[in-house]
Amino acid sequence: MSKLAETIHSMVVAPGRLAVVWLGGAGFVFKTASGRIVAIDPYLSDSLDHYYSWKRLPLSPIPMAPAELQADLVLATHAHEDHLDPETIPELVRSSQAVVAGPAMCAEAMRSWGLPKERIVEINRGESRSIAGVGVSAVLAHHVSPAGAQTPDAVGYVLDLDGIVVYHTGDSLYHPDLQRQVKAMSPAVKVAMVCINGQYGNMNPIEAARLTWEVGPAAVIPMHWGLVGENTADPADFVAALAALPNAWSGGDTGAGQNDSGARTRPLVLLPGDMVLSSFARV
Ligand SMILES: [Zn+2]
Repeated sequence: MSKLAETIHSMVVAPGRLAVVWLGGAGFVFKTASGRIVAIDPYLSDSLDHYYSWKRLPLSPIPMAPAELQADLVLATHAHEDHLDPETIPELVRSSQAVVAGPAMCAEAMRSWGLPKERIVEINRGESRSIAGVGVSAVLAHHVSPAGAQTPDAVGYVLDLDGIVVYHTGDSLYHPDLQRQVKAMSPAVKVAMVCINGQYGNMNPIEAARLTWEVGPAAVIPMHWGLVGENTADPADFVAALAALPNAWSGGDTGAGQNDSGARTRPLVLLPGDMVLSSFARV
């Protein structure tokens, strides 16, 4: 078993804390105080290479085998291979008791792969429900790209993980409705994961910083960089953009939200395979 999988399975998370592991790309694993393992968009193969000849950068090796994840719940944000991976999900489902959930196109793809119907849950934008004991809300992701297959039902997720609220943007362009929907689902996001790669329908570092500022989490992890050379960005640009934001947005335009917390968000730049164990309290 990989060292990372061993660490995740053996660790005990104290009440009031949450373990967050970046798998690389948009993939994350969470371990809660109640011992649940929840994953979003685990990409544990080389399918981008097989489909598009996009090779993993040395920074982002395959972090573990799909069978090692043994999650209780796996969420997919949309039906692109690096998020709903045809070489990860079927093996992961066959080798564990995991429930797999995602919007309609993801659920349909998983059924077409012959996965057991009773383990597939469809959740679409604007819906909130408890899945495998976890509070899951699906929110808008505005993922429109001039290239490639379109995923008009892409979502982000707001999760309540034993009282710690997490927001994962999925793949999305900036849009003011993102923060509106997140705040409608939960006013108190503790930690956010935001895409920064700036192409193929995703926010660039400046837009990701703006969304972060509007949502106002205690901590933020820039993601969707460092996986393949064709689609990456520098997280230092995100950190700089976040630091440059004033306490009140003065960029003009839109009816975008306001960060009324008066507090700054702490950026956490992880490397693939890194883990943060925290209460994600404001500092
Ligand atoms: Zn995508």
